[in-house]
Amino acid sequence: MTQSQPIFILPEGYQRTLGRDAQRSNILAAKQVAETVRTTLGPKGMDKMIVDSLGDITITNDGVTILEEMGIEHPAAKMLVEVAKTQENQVGDGTTTAVVLAGELLKNAEILLDKDIHPTVIAKGYRLAAEQAQKILNKIAEDVTEKDDDILVKIAITAMTGKGAEIAKEKLSRLTVDAIKQVLDKTTGKMIINLDNIKLEKKTGGGVDDTELIKGLLIDKEKVHPNMPRLIKNAKVALLDAAIEVKSTETEAKIQINDPMQMQAFIDQEEKIIKNMVDSIVKSGANVVFCQKGIDDLAQYYLAKSGIYAARRVKKSDIDKLALATGARITSNIKELSRDDLGFAGIVEEATIGDEEMTYVRECKNPKAVTILIKGGTEHVIDEVERAIKDSLGDISISLKDGKVVGGAGAPEMEVSKYLREFANSFSGREQLAIFAFADAVEVIPRTLAENAGLDPIDVLTDLKVQHDKKLKWSGLDVFKGKAVDAWKLGIIEPLKIKTQALKSASEVAELILRIDDVIAGGSSKKESPMPHGMPSMEGM
Ligand code: ADP
Ligand code: MG
Repeated sequence: MTQSQPIFILPEGYQRTLGRDAQRSNILAAKQVAETVRTTLGPKGMDKMIVDSLGDITITNDGVTILEEMGIEHPAAKMLVEVAKTQENQVGDGTTTAVVLAGELLKNAEILLDKDIHPTVIAKGYRLAAEQAQKILNKIAEDVTEKDDDILVKIAITAMTGKGAEIAKEKLSRLTVDAIKQVLDKTTGKMIINLDNIKLEKKTGGGVDDTELIKGLLIDKEKVHPNMPRLIKNAKVALLDAAIEVKSTETEAKIQINDPMQMQAFIDQEEKIIKNMVDSIVKSGANVVFCQKGIDDLAQYYLAKSGIYAARRVKKSDIDKLALATGARITSNIKELSRDDLGFAGIVEEATIGDEEMTYVRECKNPKAVTILIKGGTEHVIDEVERAIKDSLGDISISLKDGKVVGGAGAPEMEVSKYLREFANSFSGREQLAIFAFADAVEVIPRTLAENAGLDPIDVLTDLKVQHDKKLKWSGLDVFKGKAVDAWKLGIIEPLKIKTQALKSASEVAELILRIDDVIAGGSSKKESPMPHGMPSMEGM
């Protein structure tokens, strides 16, 4: 018998794509993801408007936000989304860069596949090139410390350029640097920056220019009693994680009251307890109280009478930050509250922000927690400013932790590409081709910057190559003037980690996708296959 019956090894409904078909569709999907975000790269990148099924609109330029909002389904495409997420978690910036790189690595790999170069050879060449690229980047990087204000501000500006924060970038960048410097801790010899200690509050109203750094906190609470002062100067702050109430429900004691005298005595007793609590607070010297739990009505009255500002049911996370900002010690035993437990703030004030009453705790002495109050005309503006501020904070923080920065505007990529070509010369044959393909792929960053600025990418790359051959390592593309400049001198500076991490995850995902030659899909109860055939049209790619 020559003709054999087809044998089904998979249950019905499963789909299987093999060999080149599998590779091709995976690469196509990954390329499409990269293609989607590449128009947003750089200061001249465009924004995307994403409308979800509920009609909510997001307008952004941020790679990871776009990909998250798109709800991508294709498994290989999802792997690229993961690259963006890893980049976001590890560095907080460079998501578009990472995805665009991954797409380009795969695109170049496809050309080699078409020349019948085996995927494992390509993967190996890519691995070698990726390792070498890390070395090159580390070698060209410059040092930075918390004393280099000038560089730090430039890092912040670079992170914000082209984002919604653009209009106020001078002010916002100074503000993010100040915020980081305020919360950084070097007492152990190691640079510790906990970005959680920089609280971001958003309020519509005013313009982006009204965004401010509060050396302390803005708490979403009002004072509990109308007779309390709205403003306290030289605040001595008590932080309580116990209620200023008489505990009634915790024990199940039954009290039998038989005559009105007893009733009165009982009430008097309760009142006395509360009065004593307030007396302890007054005695400690506190004039501001933030309480994580409740404050009894009577206690509110007594506190107000003593001229104390008090807020109740303050979030634990805020109480913790208040401790860092004011230097107060959180107390559970009100009776033992003492002067030593109190923290300090130059001003505690109730203010109307938007249409809400909030409490400012500002002018703290050397606060270890601060707040950035982001203002803007509309919520969309504020959200985009928030993302830009987060990028800046992340970039400054990672630069300081790492102690290394690079020039941007495509300069490091040109440098990596140049040295990778030299490196490739020590190999021969197919591996060499793969390393060259990698070197070419890295140039996608300056090329895309040029394209997004409406410039001719070939002219730009040729020009940049000439500059780099002249050993001008930070020669990059000034997208505004449309010509090669020294990115470092122009103040386009980024953390080294953006580049090393982007290259690392991009090459890893490219290798991973290249090694797949069999896609078996199914098993889900969904009628529609989530696999390659379910992909959107690839026409025009
Ligand atoms: P990502 O999500 O990768 O951070 P961005 O849209 O933030 O994408 O663009 C980052 C790229 O833009 C980097 O390569 C950076 O060096 C470049 N860049 C930033 N500012 C400038 C500038 N003023 N001129 C040219 N390129 C710039
Ligand atoms: Mg960026």
